[in-house]
Amino acid sequence: PEDEEVLTGEVAPTAEPGARPAPPVLAVVGRPNVGKSTLVNRIIGRREAVVEDTPGVTRDRVSYDAEWNGRLFRLVDTGGWELEARGLDRSVAEQAELAVQEADGVMLVVDAKVGPTSTDEQLVRVLRRVGRPVVLVANKVDDSGQAADVAALWSLGLGEPHPVSALHGRGSGDLLDAIVTMLPEHSQVATAQPGGPRRVAIIGRPNVGKSSLLNRATGTSRAVVNDLAGTTRDPVDELVTIAGTTWRFVDTAGIRRRVHLQQGSDYYATLRTQTALDRAEVAIVVLDVTQHISDQDLRIIDMVLESGRALVLAFNKWDLLDDDRRGQLEREIEQRLGHVSWAPRVNLSARTGRHLEKLVPALEAALEGWDTRVPTGKLNAFLHELAQANPHPLRGGKQPRVLFGTQAATQPPTFVLFTSGFMDPQYRRFIMRRLREVYGFVGTPIRIGMRVRE
Ligand code: GDP
Ligand code: GDP
Repeated sequence: PEDEEVLTGEVAPTAEPGARPAPPVLAVVGRPNVGKSTLVNRIIGRREAVVEDTPGVTRDRVSYDAEWNGRLFRLVDTGGWELEARGLDRSVAEQAELAVQEADGVMLVVDAKVGPTSTDEQLVRVLRRVGRPVVLVANKVDDSGQAADVAALWSLGLGEPHPVSALHGRGSGDLLDAIVTMLPEHSQVATAQPGGPRRVAIIGRPNVGKSSLLNRATGTSRAVVNDLAGTTRDPVDELVTIAGTTWRFVDTAGIRRRVHLQQGSDYYATLRTQTALDRAEVAIVVLDVTQHISDQDLRIIDMVLESGRALVLAFNKWDLLDDDRRGQLEREIEQRLGHVSWAPRVNLSARTGRHLEKLVPALEAALEGWDTRVPTGKLNAFLHELAQANPHPLRGGKQPRVLFGTQAATQPPTFVLFTSGFMDPQYRRFIMRRLREVYGFVGTPIRIGMRVRE
């Protein structure tokens, strides 16, 4: 029945046919060093010893699943995330604004010992503008003698400050009560948390056969209107049933329209690809087997990796393949696509319909890898074993060690390793390879962030 429904207008994602509601999202914002990471660790129940003392490390956003009294929510931490250089030096306010726009509620953390600063006030202005409900946390209230410090935070105009000591746990139960009271039961904003049919983007350079593939697959499709309120994007998705499984192909208007346009500029093609990726969970990158695998193909694959979506490679126009080209193609795949050797490959023909149905197990495998969660206990047993068998090379007489690891997120699997020293990139890649060997992670990029505890 979900195929029958056609949505129009500004419908909340949770109202989508067959929607699985997503838990609400709580963004954690605040100046550096106010204790956000400590508080996040406290809430998700991790040891506090792993918080880093050096401010100013590269920061990005990372999210964690949390639970309080049977209520699930997703915590998005806007600080304390060390990753390879990517979008360095965004201001605190900018970071916060991004996170907040994708959140159902906000936890603003302020250092009660320092009192409200102008940066805090700036953050409050951002929060006002975005208009999400806010819980104000007065952190570093380690004992009861700080009532005046806490009272001073009323001046921020966000109502009652909740005094906590992230370090010692004081007040955290009351804070969590306030958080789950504030948050809606289901997210009103989380679109990355899909409901119903899973979201697929068909991407690839011009003329590889994207629209042919779409036409072939969408004999029985139904258009659905994009449910992002106030969006300026292409409004059309299509529900497509392949071999009995229904998928939501996103931004199909972009693919169809291109047929009628002159070759759009690279800029717009890239923009469209990015838009589709933003809304998708898994990408089918279409390649033309009659053409060499080009730099442009590789750039498109890189966009998938960057966006952290699951990946399936469709080798199209298989009907045109002769034996010479076949051997050459295999060598090209080995040479140019070695870095995505984990992605499922489907050899098909949009023209004849050959092997189209094989997209289904490929998409399912990729999404399964993308959704995989390795329990913390298992992960640490794995890390321990790995370090025993292959310790990190000595550096300056010291042995950088992984102290503890956790999978902070799925979609894509994202790991945070707390280490006793800086790890070589090769060693990080080695860990990734071993993770794939042991856990599969078919069809999904994986990410590893390191936090050094000096
Ligand atoms: P972030 O930059 O906001 O993520 O801050 P961190 O969580 O890294 O904490 C910054 C510093 O404040 C660390 O040295 C923490 O140990 C310390 N800290 C965090 N919470 C508390 C607290 O409740 N009380 C005290 N006394 N120190 C804290
Ligand atoms: P798009 O720009 O990626 O959407 O590519 P199109 O779907 O417009 O296809 C470009 C050209 O390739 C058209 O002439 C199609 O008919 C042709 N084409 C697409 N798929 C196949 C296929 O599987 N086999 C053959 N022989 N031709 C194909």
